[in-house]
Amino acid sequence: MDASIADKIRRLALQNSLEHGKTQDKIVLAKILGQEPHLRTQVKDVMPTISEIVGMVNQMTPEQVRAEIAEKYPDIMAEKPQKHEEREGLPPLEGAEHGKVITRFPPEPNGYPHIGHAKAAIIDEEYARMYGGKLILRFDDTNPEAERLEYYAAIKVGLDWLEVKYDIVKNTSDDMELLYAKGREMLDGNFAYICTCKQESISSDRREMRACKCSFGSQEQNNERWERMFSKYKQGEAIMRFRGDMKSDNTVMRDPVMFRIIDTKHPLLGDKYRVYPSYDFAVAIEDSIDGVTHAFRTKEYELRNELYYSILDRLKMRKPKVIEFSRLGFEGMPVSKRILRPLIEEGKVGGYDDPRLPTLEALRRRGIRQDAIRKFVLSLGFTKADTLAPFETLESFNRKIVDGESVRLHMVKNPEAFRITGIPSKTITMHNHPTKDMGSRTVELGEEFLVEQEDLQNFKVGGEVRFMGLGNVEITRTGEAAEGRYTGDELKQSIPKVHWVAEHTAQRIKILVPSQLFFGDEFNERSLEELNVFTEPYYLELKEGKEIQFVRFGYCRKDSSLQAIYTHK
Ligand code: ATP
Ligand code: MG
Repeated sequence: MDASIADKIRRLALQNSLEHGKTQDKIVLAKILGQEPHLRTQVKDVMPTISEIVGMVNQMTPEQVRAEIAEKYPDIMAEKPQKHEEREGLPPLEGAEHGKVITRFPPEPNGYPHIGHAKAAIIDEEYARMYGGKLILRFDDTNPEAERLEYYAAIKVGLDWLEVKYDIVKNTSDDMELLYAKGREMLDGNFAYICTCKQESISSDRREMRACKCSFGSQEQNNERWERMFSKYKQGEAIMRFRGDMKSDNTVMRDPVMFRIIDTKHPLLGDKYRVYPSYDFAVAIEDSIDGVTHAFRTKEYELRNELYYSILDRLKMRKPKVIEFSRLGFEGMPVSKRILRPLIEEGKVGGYDDPRLPTLEALRRRGIRQDAIRKFVLSLGFTKADTLAPFETLESFNRKIVDGESVRLHMVKNPEAFRITGIPSKTITMHNHPTKDMGSRTVELGEEFLVEQEDLQNFKVGGEVRFMGLGNVEITRTGEAAEGRYTGDELKQSIPKVHWVAEHTAQRIKILVPSQLFFGDEFNERSLEELNVFTEPYYLELKEGKEIQFVRFGYCRKDSSLQAIYTHK
């Protein structure tokens, strides 16, 4: 057997074992035949080598597999190891010309950005890049009642963190004069009218498909009323309505609002204006004048497309292509400002960065990495079906990223005292990561240790236990004053392994463990668990924000010297 073939087989077996925990002859055979088709006539000759290598690899611990890969085939780590990590890739855009695609991300600055916004912004950006085009960040800020200056900033911070790079940034409110001019044009063309009816009669007309009496008013009347919207009318007394079709099956088309009066200070413009365009009017005009070629929005806007195109038709303006994708949501975790805002305002959660929330700030604080979010969003593909995405999928992308960067530390949740006699040294050196070069730490030892209650319960007098990183201990006493005797550090496969913390240097910290916010419609009052735990003093030396894997517990992110947040298993 050619040595280079044996090496390729070994590489495949290790890679397969890394991905699936175990490997198999037939899988490795299929893979090697894929790479080396000439071997197809020599299956009988290669099979024994494959069996031998697969047998050896299956004897190795996951750490040994990783270590060998890191040493001999480091490129495997860089490759995408699992199926669901394969980027589905976004489907080609209809009518897209290279260099000419313009997309936009139009958040309303009325709340903190969340992972749903990340989905939209990433798709907008990926398409702009795919076609060598441009991405516009446009703050859709024409409803001053809900908008605040801090949200403009928070959205930018969120996009920076996601590494979404936009080419142009603007506000819809920059174009107020232009929007008024387009409003006038609507009146001049008799495509719109000013309605002064009460809200109830507007609603009942809509429901009963009845024309509004204001729609019969003369053009002079409309012009006069339009002028009055800027001065005399009070909020709620007059609106501009699109002349649609009150009998349309699409309720959106039943003479929708184009402009309304809002007497609230605008976060950027103060009280310079009081007449503001509706979302439907602003988005159509802005997309058109901004040169947007492909405008993405979530599926619940689908019925609004008819209106979008009708407005641009009337004004003879260029029409972008509107494309829908599904809204991102998670089981028990609302991904919508409308639901998140009251939770924050009513103090049901600690704030917009509470680790239970899907806001970008909360995900970051919890230890979810921006590149995991991007991979996750792209893995969902470009579907219209509104299915809940499993949060675990995001976690698994994240785990692959943080695993190689997390310091391994010991942490004991339910501590029980345990004394060990006969330890030959006062200090030991522990590696911060099993395979990566992340340095090591010196751990000071006494005779007193803290171990996990659940572990202690399984100790039996005469039995032997591996204290991870320290050595083997023979149990000499259980119960109240449990004790053991150090018996050396020879590696023994069969004895149970436990983690521990040296008692005299143990640091008490809190771990916040977030879980599902809602069960059905019910708020889960126990969605944030606080664990009081003991860890190694090395914790204090780590920078804030450092990712940690607490051995036999899971990944966490250091939030402060007093508290860590649980990321995932
Ligand atoms: P929310 O319910 O969070 O207020 P929204 O659509 O009103 O949602 P905007 O700030 O207007 O929020 O959204 C900006 C962009 O982000 C829009 O294109 C919107 O379609 C998209 N978006 C918002 N939420 C989600 C989500 N959960 N999944 C996918 N895209 C979303
Ligand atoms: Mg909105």
